[in-house]
Amino acid sequence: MNSQAKLMVEHQLFIDGAHVPALSGRTFDKISPVTGAVIAKVHEAGREDVDRAVRAAKAALKGPWGKLTVNERAALLQELSRAIEARFDDFLEAELADTGKPRSLARMVDIPRGGANFSTFADMIKNLGSEFFQTSTPDGGTAINYGTHRPKGVIAVISPWNLPLLLMTWKVGPALACGNTVVVKPSEITPASATLLGEVMNSVGIPKGVYNVIHGFGPESAGEFLTQHPLVDGITFTGETRTGEAIMKQAAVGLRDVSFEMGGKNAAIVFADADLDKAIAGTMQSVFSNCGQVCLGTERVYVQRPVYDEFVARLKAEAEALVMGGPDHPGVGIGPLISDEHREKVLSYYRLAEAEGAKVVTGGGVPSFGDARDAGYFIEPTIWTGLPETSPILREEIFGPCCHITPFDTEDEVIALANDNSYGLASAIWTQDISRAHRVAPQIEVGLVWVNSWFLRDLRTAFGGSKSSGIGREGGEHSLEFYTERANICVKL
Ligand code: NAD
Repeated sequence: MNSQAKLMVEHQLFIDGAHVPALSGRTFDKISPVTGAVIAKVHEAGREDVDRAVRAAKAALKGPWGKLTVNERAALLQELSRAIEARFDDFLEAELADTGKPRSLARMVDIPRGGANFSTFADMIKNLGSEFFQTSTPDGGTAINYGTHRPKGVIAVISPWNLPLLLMTWKVGPALACGNTVVVKPSEITPASATLLGEVMNSVGIPKGVYNVIHGFGPESAGEFLTQHPLVDGITFTGETRTGEAIMKQAAVGLRDVSFEMGGKNAAIVFADADLDKAIAGTMQSVFSNCGQVCLGTERVYVQRPVYDEFVARLKAEAEALVMGGPDHPGVGIGPLISDEHREKVLSYYRLAEAEGAKVVTGGGVPSFGDARDAGYFIEPTIWTGLPETSPILREEIFGPCCHITPFDTEDEVIALANDNSYGLASAIWTQDISRAHRVAPQIEVGLVWVNSWFLRDLRTAFGGSKSSGIGREGGEHSLEFYTERANICVKL
């Protein structure tokens, strides 16, 4: 079924294994980014609803879920992964209706990772080892020490709207693999896939109360009530850095552990010896995929002077060839921004760039199609040059389909330019000189560096940002570290 054909649905909360209306009695509208029309009513959780969800999650820790062996839990999560794949089309439609992104993108990236996030951590948990030390004791004897892992408890999962299912399950997968229970607060703009996942959890027999979903906003709403709740044992969050700061204050009460994946202002570095075809294709992807709404996306491009003019001209030509439209628009390469409010934010940067004297290489405004697309939140793919490094355009995360391109001369100069930013999430380096790649990559102050690629992920590796881009790492054993409590058992022999 076409994503836009599914009109007006209702998203209730999912608490203790059942879809339930919010006790608060409040609902809010979900608006399609493609048509601007209201497509769903979403129940907004009040304090009482959040309390019910957290208590259900707490109780489930002591129920059948808590009694499963690691192998039984892993088998159940493998079944869940297969069930998500079996409902692939339903998840796809849910995600397309909420985000308006191109169907091919959601099909290739968002939905497959929903299932993989459960199967990967189900495999990993079965192979989780433990440290072992033998110690000499003062009486000349011996003691042995070994480590144990137990679930942390109730995990609050706060997730954003740009890759809703992928980023939410990226946290729910390892949390459940480690034996925790979760209360998820998806973004208010993308409630559908988290709600649908509740149904799938029930279908494979995940015990009630293990996975709960509350809908609502951040401040003075579901997000704040959840992160303040005293029975929450850990908070994992993906979103804006400023939101992370607010959540950290909320987490301080009761000293709850946090894991934060936040914003970026990522640099791509193109050396003159790069394979320019690949560098341009990769930069097109990293700037414009998902309409620029990717935390790992590139908004600063540094190009070595001998290839600068050619690079700018070719990126401009490719950006201008991108077809804008809804998920199924013929030849679509770029969808709308997520909301009117977000488009206003991105447009404020478009205006600021011009006010600061940028040369607008392409784009810079709202397109006019003369067809149904004019009702959607589309915005032109935009490239600027000519701004100083001090401009907010080069310092602040815009989260739209845009980048600024700056020329550079030397390796040391570009390393300094890339690092001169308060964010430290990701970077892409384009060069065919293998020594240069290995020399430069470790000097970039970020959590992830790609060489001659972008967005490749092995889920066993560490993922996260430095500086204002995050606290902690998730991925592989790093996720297992956050989602478990370790204890040492010391036995005197
Ligand atoms: P956001 O911070 O506005 O919202 C994220 C979530 O936090 C939403 O569910 C929101 O309702 C909730 N929230 C807001 N205020 C809250 C509060 N006071 N207490 C509790 N919850 C609260 O982010 P967004 O606009 O949904 O997503 C875009 C941002 O996410 C960008 O900055 C992007 O870089 C970042 N992001 C980072 C990563 C990463 O892995 N580092 C991945 C994707 C997105």
